Amino acid sequence: MTQCFGYVRVSTAKQGDGASLEAQKDAITGFASQNNLTIKGWYEELETASKRGRPVFDQMIKDLKRGKAKGMIAHRWDRTARNFSDWAAISDLSDLGIKVFCAGDNIDFESRSGRLMADIQMVLATDYSRNLSIEVQKGQNQRLKEGYWPWAAPIGYLNNGEGQLKTLCPRKAPLVREAFELYASGEHSLTSLTDHMRTRGLTGHNDRPISRRNLETTLRNPFYCGQLRCKDRLYPGKHEPLVSVSLFKKIQRLKEDRCIKKKTKHPFLFKRLLTCGACGRTLTGELQKGHIYYRCHNRSCAEKGMREDRVAKAVKAEIEAITWDEDQVAQFRAELEARDLFAELKQLLASLKLRAADVQARQSRLTDLFIDNVIAEAEFKMRKSNLALDLAAIDEERRDLEQQAERRGDLEDLISFVSRLATVYDAANETRKRELIKELFETIEILNSACSTVVVAAAYAPGRSISKIQLSVNRNGQKDLTNACSEVIGERLPSPFN
Ligand SMILES: [Zn+2]
Repeated sequence: MTQCFGYVRVSTAKQGDGASLEAQKDAITGFASQNNLTIKGWYEELETASKRGRPVFDQMIKDLKRGKAKGMIAHRWDRTARNFSDWAAISDLSDLGIKVFCAGDNIDFESRSGRLMADIQMVLATDYSRNLSIEVQKGQNQRLKEGYWPWAAPIGYLNNGEGQLKTLCPRKAPLVREAFELYASGEHSLTSLTDHMRTRGLTGHNDRPISRRNLETTLRNPFYCGQLRCKDRLYPGKHEPLVSVSLFKKIQRLKEDRCIKKKTKHPFLFKRLLTCGACGRTLTGELQKGHIYYRCHNRSCAEKGMREDRVAKAVKAEIEAITWDEDQVAQFRAELEARDLFAELKQLLASLKLRAADVQARQSRLTDLFIDNVIAEAEFKMRKSNLALDLAAIDEERRDLEQQAERRGDLEDLISFVSRLATVYDAANETRKRELIKELFETIEILNSACSTVVVAAAYAPGRSISKIQLSVNRNGQKDLTNACSEVIGERLPSPFN
């Protein structure tokens, strides 16, 4: 007697095709007794549409490979192997000498012709299920266009069988409507509304008390105002809506507003921007008696922190100090002119032209040498391609220089920005202010709050890198200055302060 495992598979989504769990087991047991096999154990796979993979099948394959039984009996191949990788796993078993039987089809898996038959069945089954899923999708789209919801009814509606409209659930529908109205009043957060609806007895699917997530999905589902949403498309539904479109829209707006509020809330202007001058930690903003304080939370640190309005005043003073006045702008321009960057560029371009002409002359000389048979063809080709490369390199250099000449004009934007800095900062909203602060200051240190000393390190100081100022010009909606400045006049700007 050969010991075998029995494998049955039942899909919970659809049954009634004459292959219930019991029917499959009966067929397998009958097959075993006719063929002198014993069933050592059963592997029962309950498939749901939502669950992927087949853990029981995989487990059985593992157990067989470990030698826990000598073979397996399935009901039908096209039901056992759902795809080619399942099929490959079964074929592997046979190759390992493990017996593979099938109760429903009279196929001898050991023989070559039997294997071929089984292979063909598998191919047909795969094609069938592929075609089925395409057909199902086509059918669903058609149903949506006709105004029917082809899936399970949302909370508050009843399923009435295939091809029938969903109807209002007399018990849940009024509660769902209540939830919509309460949320629209703005008095409730999603959490408090969930609690309230639970006490009102609203249940989700499976009749468990409604969850926050369920409720959120409900409030977002346009089904309740008569629309069917599928893959970001809306189809007008034929079912009776539970709420008006305007109420539904109002709720979507409310939800959006709440999201935006959460994201843009900046209660503390200098949040994570201040450093403790004593220990180097980042100060934490706190609200106390109507004032915002930034404090050091290092217990062994003596620094007490500072009130926000004082920090703001010091930062503002610093920004005014780095804003250029007319004299500074004039000085800066004078220094640019003294360097005569255009002349430098022109010179470079002229020398490139000479180099290009030289290479071209060598090219024609080379051709002459080849025609006069002074050099061999191989050498001619090699030299010719070298010269072509030289020419390409020169051309690239020329394009770079021309671009730099164009960027020269961008410096005017920088000048205009740096001379309006204080005005820009004053006019900025809180978000933009934070951006500016981040860009203008490397660190803002708070030290010795008793005498309100604020040490502000400006990113733009004579001779320092101006990369941060360049960035803010950028965000101001002006041109990219990063390259303009570094390429035209080097990493550092000439200082108007000298
Ligand atoms: Zn500290």
